[in-house]
Amino acid sequence: MTLAAVDRYDAGRVGDVGGRAVVLGGSVAGLCAARALADGFDEVVVVERDPLPDAPTARDGAPQTSHPHALLTAGQAVLEDFFVGFGEDLVRAGGLVVDTTRNFLEYQRGGFVAPATERTPTYCATRPLFEHVVRRHLREREAVRLLSPCRFVDYRTDDAGRAVTGVTVRDGDGPTESLAADLVVDATGRASRTPEWLDDAGYDAPPTDRVEIDLQYSSVRIDRPPGDRRVVSVPPDPPRTRGAALIPVEDDRWEVILAEMGADGGPTDRAGVIAFAEDLPVDLVGDLLSTRPWVGDGVARYPFPASVRRRYERLDRFPEGLVVTGDAMASFNPVYGQGMSVAALDALVLHHALADDGLDRLGPRFFDRVAPVLDTPWQLAVGADRGFAATDAAASPAERLFERYFDRLLRRAHEDSVVAAAYEEVVGLEQPPTALLRPGVLARVLLPVGGDAERTGPPRTASLASDRGPPLADDDGAVERDRPERPT
Ligand SMILES: Cc1cc2nc3c(=O)[nH]c(=O)nc-3n(C[C@H](O)[C@H](O)[C@H](O)COP(=O)(O)OP(=O)(O)OC[C@H]3O[C@@H](n4cnc5c(N)ncnc54)[C@H](O)[C@@H]3O)c2cc1C
Repeated sequence: MTLAAVDRYDAGRVGDVGGRAVVLGGSVAGLCAARALADGFDEVVVVERDPLPDAPTARDGAPQTSHPHALLTAGQAVLEDFFVGFGEDLVRAGGLVVDTTRNFLEYQRGGFVAPATERTPTYCATRPLFEHVVRRHLREREAVRLLSPCRFVDYRTDDAGRAVTGVTVRDGDGPTESLAADLVVDATGRASRTPEWLDDAGYDAPPTDRVEIDLQYSSVRIDRPPGDRRVVSVPPDPPRTRGAALIPVEDDRWEVILAEMGADGGPTDRAGVIAFAEDLPVDLVGDLLSTRPWVGDGVARYPFPASVRRRYERLDRFPEGLVVTGDAMASFNPVYGQGMSVAALDALVLHHALADDGLDRLGPRFFDRVAPVLDTPWQLAVGADRGFAATDAAASPAERLFERYFDRLLRRAHEDSVVAAAYEEVVGLEQPPTALLRPGVLARVLLPVGGDAERTGPPRTASLASDRGPPLADDDGAVERDRPERPT
């Protein structure tokens, strides 16, 4: 299930819940959850251990904020609905809107995916800027209070231990304080302590799916000519374990990702980065890294050992007054750029669960509804990673069959824009993978080339022009079409 299967956000659906919600973690999942809850609660308090300044800054509490972040179509659509004007504000603050028909270069299975035929504005910015714009919108809401720097210490429960009734927090260096709450949302990320706490409190910890990938993630920044908005993606593709991506961001820069599956360490200096890029099947990344000025010499690194999914929906007992969301529930190989979009989709599901039956069994109802939403990014990430030696996930016969079909589809997408568009909708989390089996796509994938499957697009080359056609945004950031179409 994906964006297509979740009803659109509707503020009017949520009745007056009243009382206070406390959200633990002020990163993307926490901020989106706080936005959804602000429609029903009198007060929503976000507890974040990092300072949250009114400026775009990378944060120690979420060290991945120093690395490039792509925002998928589904996440963009949900953020636009939650924070009206999000895209335009992002562009005004320096972010870019890029055009999928002109600016996207994606290399898959030995060739470039055919360009999109429909112009979809896609927002590109550094992760700190995405977060800053979301935070600004949230700060404007009267019901929301951001408490930072403030550390969550423990949950508080009623005497019977059946309901979470608040949290203990430490405000800066001060003493611990209690904060009563009618609902607590854990959005503290991958290191969430809720599983251990459940165990200590007499509940079962959630069963956990863990897929080892041993990903090494390194990133650098280089200068970008202002008119050049190319987005380049060359993901690892088994047996090739190395991949890269370039994302245009504010201040006339590209953020460059170098990713290696099943690796011990990544490049640490300029020479290592260029040698890594020269190993790729596409020259463009290495050429730009060698010829464009670098912004600093530093290489930021992030080892990412495993994709992890905590199956809260499988628990028989769960305390009232508690919900877990975002990376704390599921975190995926970052190469596929899904995390922020999944966090936004989680909050959309939370919105509907709250609207339907208020606080009654909100946690278990939310987990049941969100599990099929998480299935898609999980299947896409784990399915794509399965071909690497370091990945330890077994495939069922049906999954193996689908992966063979997907492989053929990707090759067909080099020349067939219809197939390419169907593929982009699925990886953008707009449509479920079953959309790739629609008759109109299936026939194009399975029929022999030169048969009835019409060739709809020319093969793309790495020299895709960066200056074709009018831009989607003018210099003041006014976006030609400011909201992505929602699939019906
Ligand atoms: C290297 C890398 C690259 C990525 N690239 C992409 C990408 O391209 N696109 C994409 O969509 N996603 C990407 N992701 C994933 C994305 O960063 C996350 O999915 C996203 O931030 C949502 O996570 P979250 O809010 O659940 O958790 P996090 O972002 O990890 O935030 C958790 C928050 O909780 C706070 N916290 C933790 N403990 C406490 C405590 N005790 N008290 C108070 N606060 C606490 C932390 O300070 C932090 O702010 C990437 C991840 C990594 C690691």
